[in-house]
Amino acid sequence: KDLLSEHKTGKDEVIDKALRPTRLKDYAGQDNIREQLDLFITAARKRGEALDHVLLFGPPGLGKTTLANIIANEIGVKLRQTSGPVLEKAGDLAAMLTSLEPHDVLFIDEIHRLSPVVEEILYPALEDFKLDIMIGEGPAARSIKIDLPHFTLVGATTRAGALTKPLQDRFGIRAQLQYYSPEDLTSIVLRSMRLLNMDDDKGAAEEIARRSRGTPRIANRLLRRIRDYSEVKHQGRLSKEIAQAALTMLEVDPIGLDSLDCQFLLAIIDKFEGGPVGIENLASAVGEESDTLQDMVEPYLIKEGFVQRTPRGRVATLKAYQHFGIDKRNFNLG
Ligand code: ADP
Repeated sequence: KDLLSEHKTGKDEVIDKALRPTRLKDYAGQDNIREQLDLFITAARKRGEALDHVLLFGPPGLGKTTLANIIANEIGVKLRQTSGPVLEKAGDLAAMLTSLEPHDVLFIDEIHRLSPVVEEILYPALEDFKLDIMIGEGPAARSIKIDLPHFTLVGATTRAGALTKPLQDRFGIRAQLQYYSPEDLTSIVLRSMRLLNMDDDKGAAEEIARRSRGTPRIANRLLRRIRDYSEVKHQGRLSKEIAQAALTMLEVDPIGLDSLDCQFLLAIIDKFEGGPVGIENLASAVGEESDTLQDMVEPYLIKEGFVQRTPRGRVATLKAYQHFGIDKRNFNLG
């Protein structure tokens, strides 16, 4: 599991950057979003205007940061990047806003974690491109207004629902990223193989795609580990069988569920007799925040048919029992 954890070594980070597509045409999948952005960017460019503000939402690793960078590239401007928790004071945001050039893209990751004081500054900036801040304190305090260049905010979040309503309303373009199909993931892996000067073996790519939880970041991470395996054990050769052997060694689940997915499912089955169980009870059973379960774990398990969401709580499906080789009838009888 350590090998697969989120923690990146310096070298992995360099590879990660190299694999990141920089143009819309190289961005696989998410066809709807790609088509819409292409159209809106072209229209804005024709009118000589800044692109409307864009909100990207969906689970981690699906390509929100990548898309923000692509938007800046396609417009032909710089991207300034920050994140909700980093912007602590109003002044932090004011400094970023005043350093922007016309049509620049400001990317705020985890935008649902902006503090209320920073959000206050952001509203007029988004709406009227004006900065309205108080300087000084007490009787000497006064407010100053500064005109900002027209810019595009790209906000990313794992949960659009956690944004305040007024903030949500200020995004003219909203895009929900979906988990990738095995076909799209296969083409992402094949492209990464070529960029890493590896054999672009289709069978191996399909095997990785199947086990990547619909997520390009996971696919690229598994590919890097398989590359190590192939170089050490097979002189860099690659095939479906070699990929399978490597993934077995790495203890990657045959359909790509990660340890939190498994804990989640097994908790419903073991501790709550298959459900229904409320999300808060599940959260304390697996020792995770309920937000994490709702934003990152559950959507994929529901999409793949392991869990059902009912008004009374979460229920494990027959498919979940089968995945762990548990006989549902015997189990329920005790
Ligand atoms: P997020 O910001 O949603 O967490 P990232 O943009 O950091 O996700 O994407 C993670 C990695 O997955 C990127 O480094 C990139 O290499 C790859 N990736 C994401 N989306 C795509 C895509 N549509 N096509 C190709 N590669 C992608």
